[in-house]
Amino acid sequence: MRGALLDAVALVLPVSCAGCGAPDRSVCLRCIHALRPTPRLVRRLGLAAWAGLEYSGVVASVIGAYKDGARTDAAGPLAAALGAAVASAVAGLPAGSVAVCTVPSTRAAMRSRGYAPVDALLSRCGIRPTHALRLVRAHADQAGLGAEARRANAEGALEARGNLAGRRFVLVDDVLTTGSTLAEACRAVTAAGGSVEAVAVLAETPLRRSGRLAGTRETYSDIRGQGDYGGRTGVVDPPFRPG
Ligand SMILES: [Zn+2]
Repeated sequence: MRGALLDAVALVLPVSCAGCGAPDRSVCLRCIHALRPTPRLVRRLGLAAWAGLEYSGVVASVIGAYKDGARTDAAGPLAAALGAAVASAVAGLPAGSVAVCTVPSTRAAMRSRGYAPVDALLSRCGIRPTHALRLVRAHADQAGLGAEARRANAEGALEARGNLAGRRFVLVDDVLTTGSTLAEACRAVTAAGGSVEAVAVLAETPLRRSGRLAGTRETYSDIRGQGDYGGRTGVVDPPFRPG
């Protein structure tokens, strides 16, 4: 509802480009060019994920504006990139029914945004996600976590809404950074008897940029906002590239 309203407002008010800030409505042509999907397979924490874009520059600006700047008018090119990633992820799968499952937003994030960013993008692609996972606990805010702390913090944050035995899923999220969020989602699905067949994300943060994790907008930053979940991670360090 709020998204539709903001789209309508963008139609009548001149706004700046969500990517570069130039006077324009929505996203300017140059930034739309930078948002053209370039699906690539990346690996984090033992998961192979298809990403539609690299999280940097204009892409990072537009995703940030869409997720946290109420710029729902920028959803079009992001939806195209996520759709391309999902298409790549399911392309190699054996026949049979596979459900698209998104990582839940925190209640606080839903309240402040008024919409679930990934669900809204999937909806534009004609994909209706299933909400097989839910956040388990809510705690106080905790800021400035590195890769190791993210992983420890994400552990146990999610659980299945019920028995998922025999059900197959494609996990979908917005920004893949360390992979903590998706590793946790995968763990929760598997623990409930389901299987994760593929993973797709809107954008991936190249590992060489991992020194600046604190600034990325991985869904995990939402989960992190819920506080310290603690616990053993059961996952291994990704092979970080130097430089
Ligand atoms: Zn622009």
